[in-house]
Amino acid sequence: MSNKRVYTFGDGKAEGRADMKNLLGGKGANLAEMNLIGVPVPAGFTITTEVCTEYNQKGREAVVELMKAEVEAGIAATEKVMNAKFGSKGEAFPLLLSVRSGARVSMPGMMNTVLNLGMNDDAVKIVAEKSGNEKFAYDSYRRFIHMYGDVVMGVDGEEGEHDPFEMVLDRIKEAKGYDSDADFTAEDLKGIVEEYKAVVKERAGKDFPTDPWEQLWGAICAVFDSWNTPRAILYRQKEQIPEEWGTAVNVQAMVYGNMGETSATGVCFSRDAATGEDQFNGEYLVNAQGEDVVAGVRTPLEITKIGSQRWAERNGTSEADRLAKFPSLEEAMPQLYAELNAVQQKLEDHYSDMQDMEFTVQDGKLWMLQTRNGKRTGAAMVKMAIDMLEEGRIDEKTAVLRQEPNKLDELLHPVFDKEAIAKANVLSKGLPASPGAATGKIVFTADAAEQWAARGEKVILVRRETSPEDLAGMYAAEGILTERGGMTSHAAVVARGMGKCCVSSAAGISVSHTALKIKGVEFKEGDFISLNGTTGEVYEGEVATITPSLDGDFAKIMDLAERHSRMYVRTNADTPADAQTAREFGAKGIGLCRTEHMFFEGDRIWKMREMILAENEEGRKAALAKLLPIQREDFYGILKAMDGFGVTIRLLDPPLHEFTPNDAASQKEMAEKLGVAVEVVKDKVESLHEFNPMLGHRGCRLGNTYPEITEMQARAIIEAACELKKEGFDPKPEIMVPLIGTVKELKMQEEIIRTTAAKVFEEKGMEVDYLVGTMIEIPRAALTADEVAEVAEFFSFGTNDLTQMTFGYSRDDAGKFLPVYIEKGILKQDPFQALDQTGVGQLVEMGCDKGRSARPDLKLGICGEHGGEPSSVEFCHRTGLDYVSCSPFRVPIARLAAAQANLR
Ligand code: ADP
Ligand code: MG
Ligand code: MG
Repeated sequence: MSNKRVYTFGDGKAEGRADMKNLLGGKGANLAEMNLIGVPVPAGFTITTEVCTEYNQKGREAVVELMKAEVEAGIAATEKVMNAKFGSKGEAFPLLLSVRSGARVSMPGMMNTVLNLGMNDDAVKIVAEKSGNEKFAYDSYRRFIHMYGDVVMGVDGEEGEHDPFEMVLDRIKEAKGYDSDADFTAEDLKGIVEEYKAVVKERAGKDFPTDPWEQLWGAICAVFDSWNTPRAILYRQKEQIPEEWGTAVNVQAMVYGNMGETSATGVCFSRDAATGEDQFNGEYLVNAQGEDVVAGVRTPLEITKIGSQRWAERNGTSEADRLAKFPSLEEAMPQLYAELNAVQQKLEDHYSDMQDMEFTVQDGKLWMLQTRNGKRTGAAMVKMAIDMLEEGRIDEKTAVLRQEPNKLDELLHPVFDKEAIAKANVLSKGLPASPGAATGKIVFTADAAEQWAARGEKVILVRRETSPEDLAGMYAAEGILTERGGMTSHAAVVARGMGKCCVSSAAGISVSHTALKIKGVEFKEGDFISLNGTTGEVYEGEVATITPSLDGDFAKIMDLAERHSRMYVRTNADTPADAQTAREFGAKGIGLCRTEHMFFEGDRIWKMREMILAENEEGRKAALAKLLPIQREDFYGILKAMDGFGVTIRLLDPPLHEFTPNDAASQKEMAEKLGVAVEVVKDKVESLHEFNPMLGHRGCRLGNTYPEITEMQARAIIEAACELKKEGFDPKPEIMVPLIGTVKELKMQEEIIRTTAAKVFEEKGMEVDYLVGTMIEIPRAALTADEVAEVAEFFSFGTNDLTQMTFGYSRDDAGKFLPVYIEKGILKQDPFQALDQTGVGQLVEMGCDKGRSARPDLKLGICGEHGGEPSSVEFCHRTGLDYVSCSPFRVPIARLAAAQANLR
């Protein structure tokens, strides 16, 4: 680490830059950059992320000592630019500070900002005197005690209790008959400050610190401590943010949006974060501090006139009313609006990306407090990239790399079924805070959301407002409905980041811990409700949803992905319908067609059971003959749906006991249906029982003990292909032998397949091209891949089984310990979701290298769940695979990930 721990900025100069995010955090790097490009930013300094790591290793005392001189110099520099004095005793205006966390990426799980730090009984008097605004001075003081008390000293409501500071406010408001916080007089606020101090003393067991330096060190250390709070850890886990990154601390001079009617604060976006529309937008509050907007306590006003008009239309507010009570910033402070509009354009031009900005107006002067590349919905992500590409702001590579593959999911996600929604009863309308459709059962707490979701229920989290404590519940819910909060409230911002449907500030609803009341009607936990996050509508009951269509910008992004990737993407599909869907999503072939699924449908299972019950080869052959036409028809359909593309068909894989019933009633039914005694069925089931079916009689072990099964399946495939070719299609079957560990196992199967194919060709008087290959899913197959490739024309890495066998984890039983392993940090990720590159990955690499050494044109692919997971797709690209294969709805994600891997 470098010796420099503190980077100052202010007055058009800065020691940091935008590209120093790793060291300064996103917020700090951009505060520096804004200074450098001439945007007005209050002076301050950033303590680096490396200091956070140092803090976690060496502890508080040692690190405070190490950075002390630099922090003191940072304060001195800030004092100079702002013409104020930290800990002023009357000689100058007191320097008050904001202390904010700021990791490399924005993290809603981190510490809340502390504003007005440096306030104490001396400072408040000087601020009152020098500003000539006593009310403002004491309002700032009481805000400071509240924030510092909560964030640094841990004074907040106990479980189920209201915030003790809020309780003081509410009590006085009620006693005085005030409508809002704005009605407090300076005298009221003086009293509140004293009461707040008493609250701190009682709850924290010590006095509120009056020494500004003690306050500052307390806040800085609280930021570092917040890196390791449970909610920050949860957020890091969900978003795959490494623990080593650490957070920076930004200490910055305060500017005051609460100085009166010529002051304001707000949040704005250079484009629409929900739809991607190129329309400046945002919200502001007059006479307020930033946290008022974010917390959704007062409902803010729109910044632009057009935004305000759209809001009025949604809300049924008349133009006269709008202008009188809810004017936009554009109308209320036109001069300032023009300045802000110029700054937002400058920032977007500079960063070539949509900016999410925070600003404060102090007595008519505009200050920018933050800018960052804005979070956006999947739809907005795609639209903005294509628009900016077409505007010439970014190139194709940037447009592709700017996509978050997993977010494409939102575009593939359901919307409400038109007919169902036409009949649905609209209960209320709120802000369209995060788009999409969601339906589920009402829950009122984040805990309940998690519990209900864990048992497979779809839930809608209904809250008065949300806070970072609700994060886990928000992840678990299908959608979120809040009583309060604007488009930039916590619920809205976080839901958009998660790609979850959210409706906020719904009209006429009231939410408690146990009930949701909408216009007099009460809904309880477990009642169904539906949300449309795109329009803000809230519906009664469960409303059917459908999948959206894909064209326009989505198609353009997919086209870019196509042109910039080396690997191609196949799909895992067992039915012509799935194959068709995947083809529409751009799949070029099938990487895994599981034939066993075909045996369960309708009365096919009976023919399968007949084969299983057969005493000998003759009996099995007779039963298989009945299955042949059915299988042929299946293969015909799938090969036709994927006409012209390779279709990898896996021979029967699961152990036979999966096809027989376990309970007495079903066994009796089976006996009756197949005309045998119940005992015969029971005996058979018993004989099929295995202690360890995953390692038992399955895969090619079936085909090698019952060759007639392989023979039937090979015949069905080849006959289907011949039929299609005759009809003018171009079938490309690839027959895949599962679960081999030795080349001999494959060799014996290959002989059966080739002999059968030759027979069919002779019978039909025609030939089709086909391949014989194998799945690499047993470590021994990877270790001896050179031998295996002597026979196999292709490998498909079955990374589900390969992961099971390499780790020795049964995937079906891993649920009991994997979550604990991840929580305890034994494993970083679930290896069944993201390919374990260091372990399992070695086997894949070895399989590729050895396989290609024996057969240079060996076709290589992967067909485990990993084929649709971006980090695994990148690994496959690096390893040189020809394709990845994944479930139909992951195909666009995998295509994008493949392009990104190629462009990085
Ligand atoms: P978050 O990361 O949650 O957005 P911030 O650190 O941006 O937290 O701060 C929250 C709010 O505090 C901001 O919206 C901003 O309005 C206000 N704020 C931060 N720094 C200052 C400052 N120097 N002067 C006035 N207000 C500030
Ligand atoms: Mg912020
Ligand atoms: Mg397998």
